[in-house]
Amino acid sequence: MTVTQKLTAANFRTPLFNDWCPGCGDFGILASIQMALAELQIEPYRAAVFSGIGCSSKTPHYINVYGLHTVHGRPLPFAIGAKLANPDLTVIAVGGDGDGLGIGVGHFVNAGRRNVDITYIIFDNGVYGLTKGQASPTLRRGVKTKALPRPNINDAVNPIALAIVSGYTFVARGYAYDTRHLKELIKQAIQHKGSSFIQVLQPCPTYNDIHTKDWFAGEDRVDPDTKKPVPRLYKLEETGYSGVLQTDSEEERVSKATEAVRLSYLWGDKMPIGVFFRDPFTPPYEERIAGIAPVYLNSAPAWQPIRNKQLKPVADVSDIFEELRVHQ
Ligand code: SF4
Repeated sequence: MTVTQKLTAANFRTPLFNDWCPGCGDFGILASIQMALAELQIEPYRAAVFSGIGCSSKTPHYINVYGLHTVHGRPLPFAIGAKLANPDLTVIAVGGDGDGLGIGVGHFVNAGRRNVDITYIIFDNGVYGLTKGQASPTLRRGVKTKALPRPNINDAVNPIALAIVSGYTFVARGYAYDTRHLKELIKQAIQHKGSSFIQVLQPCPTYNDIHTKDWFAGEDRVDPDTKKPVPRLYKLEETGYSGVLQTDSEEERVSKATEAVRLSYLWGDKMPIGVFFRDPFTPPYEERIAGIAPVYLNSAPAWQPIRNKQLKPVADVSDIFEELRVHQ
């Protein structure tokens, strides 16, 4: 394919066998990422996707860009390292709620306060699907999914609230089966300069028999007048809400962040999706580095030559090897 051809979602598909369960919400998120990359015309060699461990962490195998399926809870260190080495790269980190908010939660918090220009998408189904459905950090107290012997006794992490107080400058929630809406959120997240976080509500039809596609669609409650189900999800943008900062004032930042956190606690009967908060004023980490090392943005590590005209490595690591040599 030449770079002059218009990219479509098909350019971001791989021929690999996909072993997600039929009906898994992961398919909708995968398609949304592929469509977003295509609509932004990001050439595959200019993007990379990093994941941790879990069902959703198989995603890099199914997207035709650079990628790495790393270790449990660690997609963010890899993603941040890649972005800082090559600031031109579009970097997306993906993983489940257990991966990102259990073992990986320290990375989650610290990625936010650095504001590195990456997009982190958590596929949130409330369970550890890959290991047969144990309760994850986002499963609410008192909920008993079919794999649990008794109702969950732990309280849930609120990913949106945690992202906002951690410093993420773009925070949104999408729904796996509303791919058109989710694709737009992903496009906005990629275009935002700073750390973007999207929580995607992702039904796991195999292990989460409570928060199903029908439950989100409100099939269990019918409006007595219209005789139609009353969906639980609604779009923030359709209510006139905007969490986008208009000024760089601390007063507005605190006010909008507070309202976004309040909205993030709505759960059950009415659950908002859309952009909760966006701060276009806080400088991304790359600019902060350039502030102390101006050469960085013109000579990032990945742009350095690795060999000279004689095709010899330009870095001499013989001292390191000597130091590590095992002496008899
Ligand atoms: Fe999807 Fe759940 Fe199956 Fe994992 S176990 S692939 S999350 S449906």
